[in-house]
Amino acid sequence: MIRAHIIRTAEVDEDLFASVVQYLQQFKGEVEFIAHQETFAMPEKKDKVIKMDDEDFDKAFPVMCEYNLQMPEASKSFKKELDFPSVGAYSWDKFFALIDKFRKKKKNALPSDSRPSDVRKSESYLVKPEDHVFILTYQGNIEKWFVGSEMHNGRNHFIHLLYWNHYLMSEPIYPVAYHVMSTILRNQTFGHYNEYMSLFHEKAKGCMMDLCLDKHDIILKMRTADICSVCMEAIQNKGVNQALLRQALQIFDHVRAQVLFRERFVHVPIFSSIRIDRRNGELIFPEMSNLVVKLNPLELTVYLFFIRHERGIILSYLPDYYDELLQIYQELQPSLDRDEAALRIADLTNPLSNSISEKISRIKSKLKNMLGEEIAASYVIAGPNGGLKKIGIARDLVEEII
Ligand SMILES: [Zn+2]
Repeated sequence: MIRAHIIRTAEVDEDLFASVVQYLQQFKGEVEFIAHQETFAMPEKKDKVIKMDDEDFDKAFPVMCEYNLQMPEASKSFKKELDFPSVGAYSWDKFFALIDKFRKKKKNALPSDSRPSDVRKSESYLVKPEDHVFILTYQGNIEKWFVGSEMHNGRNHFIHLLYWNHYLMSEPIYPVAYHVMSTILRNQTFGHYNEYMSLFHEKAKGCMMDLCLDKHDIILKMRTADICSVCMEAIQNKGVNQALLRQALQIFDHVRAQVLFRERFVHVPIFSSIRIDRRNGELIFPEMSNLVVKLNPLELTVYLFFIRHERGIILSYLPDYYDELLQIYQELQPSLDRDEAALRIADLTNPLSNSISEKISRIKSKLKNMLGEEIAASYVIAGPNGGLKKIGIARDLVEEII
């Protein structure tokens, strides 16, 4: 079993982070992905400030990564609307220093006089020297790489989260997931950078070893999300862990399917059906290779409620639906104490509480992170302020399973 711990710098959006981890955790296999909630702030003082503008994006933006497709018209106009920020940039060692700090903190188990359940829980969060640690960040680095691994150990990595949508019709979670997995595969198989650097392809072939010196190469890498025959042979010769390779290929295939679905959608908007798995709290999108978006029981209660009220509901009338909401919630949480359930639904329907709006926006951001804004628009709960809120998707595409 290989363990990969995922952390983030302080400014990274919590929902985006959770979506990346949830996506990776869908793929069970040799690598176990472990999310940690504590965040790590980069030092105030940046090593350099890079002002990004349209020009910069038209020039080659060096990345160690992989893919290439012609950008559809839609994304060209999107690009113009972006207000490019100035980006603080740090040297790579600043990111690795945060990872070291994290590793030190997670080196030892709780003292043995702690509660056994706490000790067990903390053990799964322990970080061993051979574990991989990824820090996800919005902060730039001086070389402007998207992915960097600490050369001598091959176990510490940073991944940059922004700008992917300049290259790709995709939410950042897909290229990020792809790079987490290909980084693990590379470093587990070859040990560290010096062992695999000679394999890098300067001329892109749509392989995980493409260096992607040109931005179009990135898109090729994502669209093909593959391992070329030369690299496949090289990793086989190194005695690659077969279970790891299988899991990596599974993730690559899934990422590729997501990228292609989005590209096609731009030209011909065809929606996936949606299967609502009540027992597991999952929204499943079968035509998107069974992509899964996880909702907690209260979020799922809200979602099911709006699915059942196709014509929409005005939020201020929600107290009238107290009984119906409570019933849905109790069906989802049969073992929960009745008073406790009633309390939560009372809060949800209380016009003075912000609870319902929070749930709606939480669901929206989960769907947006996974499906992309354009596709998600038909599945989220939306409507004017004070007006009817509803879910737009045609109900013949909706299936509830128990
Ligand atoms: Zn290759």
